[in-house]
Amino acid sequence: MNRIVLASGNQDKLRELQYFLRDLQIEIIPVHDLIPGWSIEETGISLEENAFIKARDVAEKTHLPAIGDDTGLFVDVLGGAPGIYAARFAGVNCSYENNIKKLLRTMLCEENRRAAFRTSAVLVSPDVEFSVTGEITGVIIDEPDGEEGFGYDPIFLPDDLDKTFARCSPEEKHRISHRARAMRKLRDKSISSGISG
Ligand code: IMP
Repeated sequence: MNRIVLASGNQDKLRELQYFLRDLQIEIIPVHDLIPGWSIEETGISLEENAFIKARDVAEKTHLPAIGDDTGLFVDVLGGAPGIYAARFAGVNCSYENNIKKLLRTMLCEENRRAAFRTSAVLVSPDVEFSVTGEITGVIIDEPDGEEGFGYDPIFLPDDLDKTFARCSPEEKHRISHRARAMRKLRDKSISSGISG
């Protein structure tokens, strides 16, 4: 069984990754099991750069292959904002609710509501490095709807569904989400590059 470290302290991401790689001979280890308190500044100017910053740092420190990821929300009428700054759109340490309120305020009266979630996921090991992406397009609705999920889910209506991500079960979201699409590609590339043991 190969061991891969997830360069994130987020338990939801850990669970998702374990779900998508469940049939492979891979043990996913959360970074904090090996480096308590690990964190790193995301200074990149793209999702891919940020994902590599996290994974390379963890791979270097643990001497194990590492997976990093980064997600952004890209709104057409805002020229792609909040983009890679989705987590801190309303300020450093702001809540999901603050971000949603700011986005809805910023888009008030805008007719073009087109937006996309994009995820970049990377794998870094001594022998191989690769990156994959996943995307889902949709629209930003006028007011929050639904209690499931996190982040901007209550105001994101995917093109393929007639309800927001916040009205989807985890399984429904896993079928089509940006992160799920990236994780499936990551799984396929892990197999073809021999990482899965
Ligand atoms: P991260 O790079 O996965 O930490 O995502 C950055 C930010 O994007 C999060 O803090 C959320 O605000 C937003 N985000 C990422 N993934 C999702 C999602 O699946 N639904 C809603 N918001 C998301």
